[in-house]
Amino acid sequence: MEKTNSKPAFIPKMYCSFFGHDFQVTKKVTWHVKEYTCSHCKKQLTTNSNGNLTELTPKFKEINAILERIHNKRMIRSQRKTITSSIC
Ligand SMILES: [Zn+2]
Repeated sequence: MEKTNSKPAFIPKMYCSFFGHDFQVTKKVTWHVKEYTCSHCKKQLTTNSNGNLTELTPKFKEINAILERIHNKRMIRSQRKTITSSIC
């Protein structure tokens, strides 16, 4: 059933189940929401609305893209505020 050729792809997962995932921040969506990727098995996680880590599914990618857009708008607005308040 299982081909021996496909084994190497399985090793990183074995490594992770043994030593644990090595997640690194790959994207900062907002102050609180980040996307993480495991450097070994490329598993992706993200922060959900409860502040817990969850698997980065296409649905969450979509949500994060929207969050990022809102966050960037807020950043621009808050930057304008600090500029105007420093002038006044
Ligand atoms: Zn991993």
